[in-house]
Amino acid sequence: VTERLKTPRGTRDLSGEEVAVIAGIEDAARALAIHYGFEEIRTPIFESQSLFERSVGDETDIVAKELYRFVDRKGRPLALRPEGTAGVVRAYIEHAMAARGGATKLYYAGPMFRYERPQGGRYRQFLQIGFEFFGATGVTADFEIIDLAWRLLERLSVKAGLRVNHLGCAACREAFSRALVDHFAARREALCGDCVRRLEKKPLRLLDCKVPACRAIAGDAPSIGLCATCRAENDVLHDLLRGSGIAFTADATLVRGLDYYTGIVFEMTSAKLGAQDAVLGGGRYDNLVADLGGAAVPAVGFAVGVDRLASIILAEPAASPPRAPLLYVIGLKPEGLAEAARLTRILRRWHEKRTLAASARPDWIEMGHGERSLKARLKEADRLGAAYVAIIGEDEVANGTTMIREMGHGGQAVVALRELKEGAIGEAILATMERLTEERLR
Ligand code: AMP
Repeated sequence: VTERLKTPRGTRDLSGEEVAVIAGIEDAARALAIHYGFEEIRTPIFESQSLFERSVGDETDIVAKELYRFVDRKGRPLALRPEGTAGVVRAYIEHAMAARGGATKLYYAGPMFRYERPQGGRYRQFLQIGFEFFGATGVTADFEIIDLAWRLLERLSVKAGLRVNHLGCAACREAFSRALVDHFAARREALCGDCVRRLEKKPLRLLDCKVPACRAIAGDAPSIGLCATCRAENDVLHDLLRGSGIAFTADATLVRGLDYYTGIVFEMTSAKLGAQDAVLGGGRYDNLVADLGGAAVPAVGFAVGVDRLASIILAEPAASPPRAPLLYVIGLKPEGLAEAARLTRILRRWHEKRTLAASARPDWIEMGHGERSLKARLKEADRLGAAYVAIIGEDEVANGTTMIREMGHGGQAVVALRELKEGAIGEAILATMERLTEERLR
């Protein structure tokens, strides 16, 4: 017996309505990118392992436990990207984008890979759309990014709760790290092995350990004390958000599971999702460009989980009816089929022009291929939901005509194709379709 081939664990095929919804999300993000001044960037799906170790951080779960690592045939240590920011920053440095001066605003959309335990809303390959704002000086830039994230969900009619936090500047974090180490070191025996190591290397990561015992200790850990400058910045952000009607809660426990964040961080969650309720997350990363070998460039960004957004949208009652052909062209016998193919080609070109400026999901022209009976063809047109068919049988071939019939009602009329210029055929058939419906309704 041959083995049945299946998608790898944690991955899935996207098709049907879900793909249409995902394309709609991508369209909304692209439209907003234009309005907020972002340009698209497409970076490789795999990068050197060290890029992620040095940016996301080697003490984070994403890198320590979830990275898809491999070596290529020349022994180069590579990894599938677990997130998008690292690659975009690498590209920003590699192409000396800072030298252009001023701000650089980039966005991306594509698959990310994390070796996580799959569950509802958590996959090993998932889609993210992210926005990165380089040269983002001052708290108004953080506000712009949060407003963009908010607007994206608003456009998609997805409601989510926003939480924001401030991780402080280097000075605030220094004091905070010491306070964290004191708190956790006093309970060292109860900590997992990873956290004992984090005590020495990355105290902030103590706050997002998933082991229950460590979480309990994190529960009553001290929260960060902000210096006057950071506090003032935080106040400005809160004022701007309030003034814009962007509802949020200030959450001191929000630290985000990536090392590169500094300053303001935020996350949006949806009650429509299960345990994995995060829809998007982001924040400021002022040191990352310099840490990866670039200039000292402040930056802020966020990434949204497209699979989760799509599942929220799909759970709502369908907004648009399923797509169906405008017209189904039926050719009988080889001669009729050849005429049908010619007519279909002409109609598709006409229809393309006609629907260029129309809805995002226009209808289309379909044709039945291969020799089948009229009855079988009408059944197929009905299955597709076509409202009209154009029939070309023996008589129609002989006369250079087609018979237009309204499905489900039986009203029909002949259109003399031979007498028409190619460019007039589409409109003539459309007029006949409309007349059939009008006559029936009269
Ligand atoms: P992160 O880079 O971890 O902040 O993730 C940003 C967003 O990506 C999250 O808010 C989720 O919506 C989404 N996301 C992260 N990991 C996964 C996953 N394994 N499967 C599906 N979506 C994910």
